[in-house]
Amino acid sequence: MRAVEPSHPDAPRSDVVIVGAGVIGLATAWRLRERGLSVSIVDPDPGGAASRAAAGMIAPASEVQYQQHALYPLMRKAASNYPDFVAGVQAASGHDVGYRRTETLVCAGTPADRQGLAELREHQNAHGMEVDALTVREARALEPALSPRLAGAFRAVGDHQVDPRRLVAGLIAALSSREHRAHATLVTQAAVRLCDDGGGVELADGSRIAARHTILATGLGSDLFAGLPASPAAVLRPVHGDILRARLPDGAAPLLERTIRGVVNGVPVYLVPRADGEIVIGATSREDDLAGASAGGVYRLLRDAQTLVPAVCDLELVEVMARARPGTPDDVPLLGRLRDGDGAEAPGLILATGGFRHGVLLAPLLADAAAALVTGDSRGPDLTGVLRTTDPYRFHPTD
Ligand SMILES: Cc1cc2nc3c(=O)[nH]c(=O)nc-3n(C[C@H](O)[C@H](O)[C@H](O)COP(=O)(O)OP(=O)(O)OC[C@H]3O[C@@H](n4cnc5c(N)ncnc54)[C@H](O)[C@@H]3O)c2cc1C
Repeated sequence: MRAVEPSHPDAPRSDVVIVGAGVIGLATAWRLRERGLSVSIVDPDPGGAASRAAAGMIAPASEVQYQQHALYPLMRKAASNYPDFVAGVQAASGHDVGYRRTETLVCAGTPADRQGLAELREHQNAHGMEVDALTVREARALEPALSPRLAGAFRAVGDHQVDPRRLVAGLIAALSSREHRAHATLVTQAAVRLCDDGGGVELADGSRIAARHTILATGLGSDLFAGLPASPAAVLRPVHGDILRARLPDGAAPLLERTIRGVVNGVPVYLVPRADGEIVIGATSREDDLAGASAGGVYRLLRDAQTLVPAVCDLELVEVMARARPGTPDDVPLLGRLRDGDGAEAPGLILATGGFRHGVLLAPLLADAAAALVTGDSRGPDLTGVLRTTDPYRFHPTD
């Protein structure tokens, strides 16, 4: 992918300009390139927002919460698309994006947590998700580092992981590959305004990128919505998550093979082991105003992770960070065409955000649906149903 300064005479005119190079914007750029369209992607800090923090659990079963019926089929469909999506990115980029199909174990810290997880499992099974009960002995036979004091364990065989940082790097490399780079451009600046005449954006330095279609994959970024009536993005709220990265000392045998999720005294925690020995420990959910990581959140993560896996206290802590998830009122993303000042669909203006806790999981599915809006070709099964569910105006009274 070419990286150009926007004031450069080669500043692009593309079929599509995508504002936001998080997993959703980049995955959409990739899907559009696969369909032969030229893309410009605009972001001052590609992959630096929520996508940088994410643990990357591809967890259509163990991530499920009650009362999210519209979301379940999206999660399942997205998870089933993942192998193909990853294979395409890896083939084009030559990058390993850290997709691991090891299962997930879900552990209870106390008898009350076990009861809560057993009830959730009934709900998961009733909705077609494969979650099985294990004895603690069986769980420890699979993962010997688990505490013998666990109160119970469950297993979600279809819940996997990808490394979002590697995925972002892989997508950028795929778009930069020999086959694609002439038609994909990354501009490392903020977009400050939608062009009045439609079709493109103005950048911080006053230059402009023209395009037939504009996709706003801006996560929580709201700068571009000022001119839009009743912007559907106004329903987004930041849900902060503290997240830790830790490692074993050099030469030590891996601590875990599988992702370990758990509930300890009613509070969720997870440990996601990467192939290179890194363990990602997360993640809190805070709706406060702290700019960075919360001391209390970090304390609770380490405490609860250690309850499930006592050897956590032997790890080297290499990173503490917090980012905000783009949350929607029903936890379902916002993907669809935007409307202009008269309430009519703005031709070529598409919103793709609201990934909330599942944006990495949902990225390929949302990318397919956004690409279908651009091309009018809903290849792949039932993207119309996906777009109905993600209608960005569903919280607005019909006018
Ligand atoms: C702690 C934590 C753990 C998580 N774990 C998981 C997980 O295990 N599995 C999962 O599926 N999801 C997880 N998520 C959720 C996931 O990270 C998000 O849903 C996903 O990253 C959203 O992707 P995005 O591309 O929409 O947004 P972002 O990654 O936030 O990217 C938006 C981009 O838009 C850019 N932008 C905004 N405004 C402008 C502008 N005006 N001009 C140019 N660029 C602009 C920003 O710079 C940014 O790079 C987690 C999130 C957090 C915070």
